[in-house]
Amino acid sequence: MPYNDQFECMPFEELQKFQLAKLKETVAWLYERVPFYKNKLDELGIKADDLKRVEDISKLPFTVKTDLRDNYPFGLCAVPLKEVVRVHASSGTTGKPITGPYTVGDLDQWSECVARVLWAAGVREDDIFQNAYGHGLFTGGLGLHQGATRLGCTVVPTSSGMTERQILIMKDFGTTGICCTPSYALTIAERAEELGTPLKDLPLRVGVFGAEPWTNAMRQEIEERMGIKARDIYGLTELGGPGMAYECEAENGLHINEDHFIAEIVDPITLEPVPMGERGELVLTAIQRRAMPLLRYRTKDITTLRREKCSCGSTFVKMDRITGRSDDMLIINGVNVFPSQIESLLKDFEEVELQYVLHVGKKKHLDQVNLRVEAKQDVYDAGPEKIVQVEKKISSHIKGILGVGVGVELAAPKALTRSEGKAVRVIDERPK
Ligand code: ADP
Ligand code: ZN
Repeated sequence: MPYNDQFECMPFEELQKFQLAKLKETVAWLYERVPFYKNKLDELGIKADDLKRVEDISKLPFTVKTDLRDNYPFGLCAVPLKEVVRVHASSGTTGKPITGPYTVGDLDQWSECVARVLWAAGVREDDIFQNAYGHGLFTGGLGLHQGATRLGCTVVPTSSGMTERQILIMKDFGTTGICCTPSYALTIAERAEELGTPLKDLPLRVGVFGAEPWTNAMRQEIEERMGIKARDIYGLTELGGPGMAYECEAENGLHINEDHFIAEIVDPITLEPVPMGERGELVLTAIQRRAMPLLRYRTKDITTLRREKCSCGSTFVKMDRITGRSDDMLIINGVNVFPSQIESLLKDFEEVELQYVLHVGKKKHLDQVNLRVEAKQDVYDAGPEKIVQVEKKISSHIKGILGVGVGVELAAPKALTRSEGKAVRVIDERPK
């Protein structure tokens, strides 16, 4: 049974009524308080009262990342700053950071949403929950902190980094639950093995991982090496951080907290809605936040939505795991490639670790991709002949499956920089 069955198990018709009421409230709220939205809504000639069904959301304007940058830092904030009790900001990979202000009520609903995520993963109040997400401006740390606190767990806010201390605490405190990025989970697991305390020998039993794309191959690797169940959590700073979508026991998609967010999928080129079940860009509208609710925010994340009966009892729509972003999809000599596809293929090779970096460059007019991936110690020790053999094997496998020629270079064990947050998997050096 989900954490909050009143909402998570709400019959569809009732949910739609609820969503429509909250959507109208939010549109009216923004119209009166945020000039950016007032102008946009006036331009389109649409008011809250024009919304008669949830589908009418498609009449509303989109919001994009540059809108947040242009209104930096608080131009989109709908309440006076004295009502704002917290401001987060995104890791800001390009340009200025993205700000996320919260009212007291926003923090409360965030805790609720994250509590649902943890509950669905099997975390309970008697868990000792180590929170190895970065604490600070990044939403992961404090967001998971609040959710786990709401559940009543014994929370240990280690934050990310200081890997040996993470392992020491896990051992000494008897940590049973953990959260961090999936790439950092593997970093911890690997260090623990080196120290002679494999995590699978510790009481650890459940982990919640997100903030970057990962695959089922990586899930399997994490579950084996840590001796846990590994579940996915999704969110973004612009809409309040982690806790928007989460995996349940069925492990076939992430339920979206639909009483708080309305999800749509659009074609990233035409921006037209695509039918349920088809791939496209996820667009989300926050319908209960008050400091900075965004209308139809284009996440650039590529996924599909499915509404189906789920064994966990939740009626919330499911999205598939994010396979990439509409803006990080690599186009290699005309072929679309997602880094997560390469990762899945690497999992088929016992000779390498799932530690890799894709370098994309140009040779004359052709795109060139080089994959550096770490060899396992015994493969590396076997010498150059073996290494070349494995490199060729991986390269021809990738060519066979993805249709893209990729130069493969086996790196020495531990040669690649370990992630303590979001792993950098692609270095694209092509002239723009
Ligand atoms: P987060 O704290 O979730 O990383 P950011 O705002 O820094 O928040 O980044 C949000 C982006 O991170 C999302 O738009 C998405 O591309 C990526 N992301 C977050 N969670 C996941 C996940 N579970 N799977 C894939 N990508 C994710
Ligand atoms: Zn479910």
